[in-house]
Amino acid sequence: MEYQKQQEFAQQLDQQDVLKSYRSLFHIPIHDQHEQIYFCGNSLGLQPKNTQVYIAQELEKWQNLGVEGWFTGQNNWINYLQHLKGPLARIVGAMPTEVTVMNNLTVNLHLMLISFYQPTTQRFKILVEAGAFPSDQYAFETHLKTRGLNPDEAIIELIPREGEHTLRHEDILASIETHRDTLALVMLGGINYYTGQVFDMAQITEAAHAVGATVGFDLAHCVGNIWLELHNWQVDFAVWCSYKYLNSGMGGVSGVFVHEKHHQANLPRLAGWWGYDQATRFKMEKGFVPMQGADGWQLSTPTILAMACHRAALEITDQAGMKALREKSVLLTGYLRFILEEYNQQHQQILQIITPQEEAQHGCQLSILVEKNGKQLFEQLTNAQIIGDWREPNVIRLSPVPLYNTFEEVWKVGQALANQ
Ligand SMILES: *Cc1c(COP(=O)(O)O)cnc(C)c1O
Repeated sequence: MEYQKQQEFAQQLDQQDVLKSYRSLFHIPIHDQHEQIYFCGNSLGLQPKNTQVYIAQELEKWQNLGVEGWFTGQNNWINYLQHLKGPLARIVGAMPTEVTVMNNLTVNLHLMLISFYQPTTQRFKILVEAGAFPSDQYAFETHLKTRGLNPDEAIIELIPREGEHTLRHEDILASIETHRDTLALVMLGGINYYTGQVFDMAQITEAAHAVGATVGFDLAHCVGNIWLELHNWQVDFAVWCSYKYLNSGMGGVSGVFVHEKHHQANLPRLAGWWGYDQATRFKMEKGFVPMQGADGWQLSTPTILAMACHRAALEITDQAGMKALREKSVLLTGYLRFILEEYNQQHQQILQIITPQEEAQHGCQLSILVEKNGKQLFEQLTNAQIIGDWREPNVIRLSPVPLYNTFEEVWKVGQALANQ
């Protein structure tokens, strides 16, 4: 699309937006009686207005039924998970049996490593991004140590080429090839949290499988953001959190994908009673018998209140549909890039957008590297009530979200930058 820098142009795009009604389903934070321009959905998505309603329902049930809430009525807690699996499966491109909802992301990462990282003396390496999200780095490091392995030997980090900020796809594939005989697992973020770069998960999976390695993705920045086809791509497992683009609230409950091909495989796992075959769970017998599918990885009694938040939010994303969301997102983030480049032309190119421009390589987020006075520029945006986030040492992340952000809000970024 040929973008224009006039306010009327942005307003016109908003009028034509087929998703424009969705904004009214969210609480937009207010400052000084004005709605903030919230571009921080990559960190904490906004609260759907329905969240309170869904939580209130469960509180009321607890109030009125006590323990009977587990078994009474259509929305009983025993089967509460079932309301989440359909929408989630559609959002990540999976079958309902391939997804479950439990714990938090880093916990699930460890649980999946137990099942899918099977090192042998020859094949024991894990391929990861250098500068992966810190929690993932700590998980890899400590997980390997508990398995008696030396992280310095077992972890291979993908590093961008000298002078570049993002990874080249061909370099990822080449690295898989280089380590073909020793590689046990490829474990990347589907999107790098810092640069916003989207990796070609289908091709990476194919390449890793071709050398006999297993593939997992941390989709924290992908779910609800970009188009996913985990089942068709043959990804072995994936984990994600629900509080970024899925708007399910602070520290919200996490999701897990386990590909169907592994459901009968009797993989090693750390189990708990909630993953036990539901038909006989309450016989409380010795000897673990897993539920079929991803649900067999559950450990504990589900956190129903967190799931109620999740349910309210998932219904919105599911109803909008990932296809429509992604279509708007490409336009909206494209417009932000245009606005930033307009500013750049007049200001000695002081902003460097390190997120790749190719459509397949970005989601909502743009990561803007500012070599000089970056913090100051960030504060300028904040003073204009434009909420992004700052990542040390010099990156501003702005993420227009198709569910609740508008083109006019993006246009205002240009105004705020110009008004210094
Ligand atoms: C946000 C994020 C996490 C957070 O993990 P929690 O266990 O939910 O705190 C982990 N990994 C990545 C890549 C993230 O972006």
